[in-house]
Amino acid sequence: MLEFFYKKARHAKNPKKILLKLFDLFLKKDGKFLKLNIQNITFDNEKPTLKSEAQQFMFDRVVIACGAFSKKLTDKLDEKIPLDTERGYHIHFKGCEHLISRPVVFQNRGFGMTPMQQGLRVVGTVEFGGLENPASKSRIKNLINNAKYLLDGLPEHQDEWLGFRPTLPDYLPVIGPSKNYKNIFYSFGHHHLGWTLAAISGKIISNMIADKKTNLNLEPYSSKRF
Ligand SMILES: Cc1cc2nc3c(=O)[nH]c(=O)nc-3n(C[C@H](O)[C@H](O)[C@H](O)COP(=O)(O)OP(=O)(O)OC[C@H]3O[C@@H](n4cnc5c(N)ncnc54)[C@H](O)[C@@H]3O)c2cc1C
Repeated sequence: MLEFFYKKARHAKNPKKILLKLFDLFLKKDGKFLKLNIQNITFDNEKPTLKSEAQQFMFDRVVIACGAFSKKLTDKLDEKIPLDTERGYHIHFKGCEHLISRPVVFQNRGFGMTPMQQGLRVVGTVEFGGLENPASKSRIKNLINNAKYLLDGLPEHQDEWLGFRPTLPDYLPVIGPSKNYKNIFYSFGHHHLGWTLAAISGKIISNMIADKKTNLNLEPYSSKRF
């Protein structure tokens, strides 16, 4: 068995707290937040209008960054982007975060454990099951069994979570303008690394919509590759 030790690896013990700090900053900078389910996008003189069930808003430019759900919108824009979801699961063992000092991945069993503020997080599995199917109990059981195989005396687990990694066949994200509409931009498809890559993708896409020049070659991320 191969073993790797990443000396300089870092992890966030509570990603939600970081998210809320960023959200506060966004509001302080006069950002506006509305929680709406966008169902369609129409155009008026090339300006996109986002439509929810009861409301609609016209913008100069729009970024679609809806993770694995982005395909529901890109399909409506006549793009055939083969986005799918690699479903993954996690559970917590509360009060057990002290048992390991850093994230540990067990490659041969396909799962990892990370000490988090909520407890010891046990995470893993890749499941092709779409966005609508219910969570698989057997995959949760698999995580429990793997954790108990490695650590004695774990209590009852808590917080069963199913998440949707947004993944494309070539394992690259889609970042850049839509093929068909110049005022629509995409930023999705960051598969297993969306949290890690969010900052750099955000920087790239915000520069793009502000028409700032870049010396990065962004061609590999274009939706034109499909
Ligand atoms: C088990 C598991 C472990 C992971 N571990 C890591 C890790 O350790 N490190 C890492 O970097 N990444 C990790 N990831 C991957 C990471 O979670 C994803 O890559 C990331 O969440 C993608 O971010 P996103 O913002 O593109 O999409 P999402 O996080 O899915 O967010 C999409 C947002 O769009 C909203 N939305 C969707 N449709 C609409 C609509 N029609 N109208 C309005 N809003 C809409 C949703 O409500 C949601 O808020 C993990 C994923 C899983 C499942």
